[in-house]
Amino acid sequence: MSGKKTILVAGGAGYIGSHLNRAAHERGYRTVVYDNLVCGHKSAVQWGDFLLGDLADAGQLRLAFRHFRPDAVMHFAAHACVGESVADPEKYYLNNMAATLNLLCAMREADCRNFIFSSTCATYGIPRQIPIAEEHPQAPVNPYGRSKLMVETALADYAAAYGLRYVNLRYFNAAGADVLARTGEDHNPETHLIPLVLDAAAGRRPRVSIFGADYDTPDGTCVRDYIHVDDLARAHLLALEYLFGGGESGSFNLGNGRGYSVKQVIDCARAVTGREITVIEGPRRAGDPPVLVGGTELAERVLGWRPDFPRLEDIIGTAWAWHKKRFC
Ligand code: UDP
Repeated sequence: MSGKKTILVAGGAGYIGSHLNRAAHERGYRTVVYDNLVCGHKSAVQWGDFLLGDLADAGQLRLAFRHFRPDAVMHFAAHACVGESVADPEKYYLNNMAATLNLLCAMREADCRNFIFSSTCATYGIPRQIPIAEEHPQAPVNPYGRSKLMVETALADYAAAYGLRYVNLRYFNAAGADVLARTGEDHNPETHLIPLVLDAAAGRRPRVSIFGADYDTPDGTCVRDYIHVDDLARAHLLALEYLFGGGESGSFNLGNGRGYSVKQVIDCARAVTGREITVIEGPRRAGDPPVLVGGTELAERVLGWRPDFPRLEDIIGTAWAWHKKRFC
């Protein structure tokens, strides 16, 4: 790989983007973070250049491409809450889809042809079989998943017509934090299980609600595939180097390949933190499939990717170190 290549990191001030930004920097890339800081944090951009900008602003995007001449774009900037996407689909279609078209348009004008897209297991909808492989039909059941699938569709058309080369990375549940606790998850409001559980451990919330304990799963709670954010970051670099090496455009799942229930996550957090965590069993959350676990054989075979942090203890342990640094 060349240490001189430049990556434009859209949404690089956010949770996953900021971890990629660090990993890319450590691997010798030049990075330019392009972020409007609506959800991201300037403090998370500790490496590379930073440009305060909105993907909705086509003029500013054009200038950014002219000035930095990136060799590739990684696109993390998106809204990602399923419930919110149902209540306010326009927000999702404007930001996740329309703004992404601006980005693709700016790339085409600048003849920048390599694109790594943050897609999601939510594009599969309700799984017909577990683990979910990439060939599983894509039938998303909410506007968030649909907005991501629309971009995947546009990318295939751009590739056929304009020679864009892309990789869709379909994440399962991103979790954990930088091992040195320099960056981590920081959403406002927080909706994700692990930071909420750690909030309860830290005394910042009285309790955690389990969203349904009557599922057809071993302990009655939903099973998810939690994947460490640094493993996601590394996969982006492998995907980029795959494209630089002449690899064909395509899609890869990024997950742990194994599932953990909500109760297993809470028990693991109790063990990792040594703290009490009060739990109540509440109703199901609309739109939650009982089990989501990804098959990652393709990423392993084609990209040479395997999680470095497959153990839930390590995922929660790094998240707890980041949590303690800020709150305890
Ligand atoms: N969950 C829960 N209580 C919470 C938040 C989440 O029981 O306060 C459950 C949720 O129903 C899902 C799992 O934890 O089964 C992971 O949810 P999260 O929101 O972290 O990620 P998602 O699977 O929605 O991407």
